[in-house]
Amino acid sequence: MILPIVKYGDPVLRKKGAKIDAITPDIKKLIADMFATMEARHGVGLAAQQVGVAKQLTVIDVRAVTDRPSTLELDGQPADVAVIMPLVLINPVVTPAGEPVTGGEGCLSFPEIFADIARPGTVDVQALDAHGKPIAFRCGGLLARAVQHETDHLNGLLFIDRMDKKTKAELQPELDELQAATKAALAKKLAGRDDGK
Ligand code: ZN
Repeated sequence: MILPIVKYGDPVLRKKGAKIDAITPDIKKLIADMFATMEARHGVGLAAQQVGVAKQLTVIDVRAVTDRPSTLELDGQPADVAVIMPLVLINPVVTPAGEPVTGGEGCLSFPEIFADIARPGTVDVQALDAHGKPIAFRCGGLLARAVQHETDHLNGLLFIDRMDKKTKAELQPELDELQAATKAALAKKLAGRDDGK
């Protein structure tokens, strides 16, 4: 099922995700729906907060992007990124393992807003997979950027928090507009509910 994407201005995007203790049927359904939603929106990653659920769960798939390479190391050996795609990360812990690099980012919760963001170019990742099994890998390039962007979401952080001051100032009118539109839509939805509609 394709789910509606939560936009900037919705408070759920600022909520830290609760840890997932067990892969229940509800979690399995959420994972499947998040993949369907991400594919429908041509996203590289999607965090549970972006479909309104504050849990430590994100899905990532970088295979459709051919002009921005990713790297992967498993047990210290280079590996094909495709072997871990599509990727489900539950309760991920991300540790920087390289110098910051700047690259372009967008976010499905911020339609048509893009910016350059500096993040470590390589990271170590520990998480549970879709079956609740521990996984660990080192990654670089686009995959490292996606993992960090999505893990930020799980902690209530957004890419606007990682922008330099000048970039954020330039985007502020668009951000204010988006936030106001989201809040107005939420208020309308709430009012409709009060009317019993
Ligand atoms: Zn995002």
